[in-house]
Amino acid sequence: EVNKIILTFSSLPQNVTIARMLASSLGAQMDLALSELEELKVAVSEAVSNAIIHGYSNAPDQFVTLELEADETKISIQVTDNGCGIPDVNQAMQASYSTDPDRMGLGFIFMQSFMDELRVESEVNKGTKVLMVK
Ligand code: ATP
Ligand code: MG
Repeated sequence: EVNKIILTFSSLPQNVTIARMLASSLGAQMDLALSELEELKVAVSEAVSNAIIHGYSNAPDQFVTLELEADETKISIQVTDNGCGIPDVNQAMQASYSTDPDRMGLGFIFMQSFMDELRVESEVNKGTKVLMVK
């Protein structure tokens, strides 16, 4: 049985927690171990934070969409923003790469290592879509 949840929310930092809880609640209905749930939460937090901080430069009047799809065996998570986009996705996904000198540049590395699949589609001035599967 497939369970699908789609949520669109304001680009506000406090909504990272809501996105994370939703993903973890859905993940808990599957056979995920507690440690896997923790990893799922980190991956979702990183993707949603990126949309807010980088995609929208923290502008709170924009929207992020979270799409979750789970069945008995896997959970797919898509995070979409209509923000500034990423000029070079391969470069952005390198460890320690960040356009912000105060950041670690590890968000994509966490998403990659904590999820089984990570796909990033982005277009400058159109936005970014991050698809993750576990
Ligand atoms: P950290 O996640 O460790 O705080 P970071 O956010 O800079 O640092 P990543 O999450 O790996 O590191 O992202 C790398 C870079 O990719 C960012 O610095 C930013 O330039 C770009 N980026 C990531 N997500 C988006 C997005 N949704 N929209 C625009 N740019 C993005
Ligand atoms: Mg990040």
